Amino acid sequence: MTPKEIGPFRCPRCGATTWGNLKHCLECGQALDEECEYCGVTWRYFYDYAYCPECGKRVKSKRTGTTIQ
Ligand SMILES: [Zn+2]
Ligand SMILES: [Zn+2]
Repeated sequence: MTPKEIGPFRCPRCGATTWGNLKHCLECGQALDEECEYCGVTWRYFYDYAYCPECGKRVKSKRTGTTIQ
């Protein structure tokens, strides 16, 4: 992963501008990584994966509120 791939982006909670190597939002502390609850792998939230890239479980539920069990 190069810095060019992880440029500025908005915090999912407060909308503050953050950038790719931050682990948490500087304004509100929102974690900027997603963590798979099944296998524990993490990735940057802005990739917006619906399924874990590691284990393939459905993971997109926290921000959208549309949990699929
Ligand atoms: Zn924030
Ligand atoms: Zn996983």
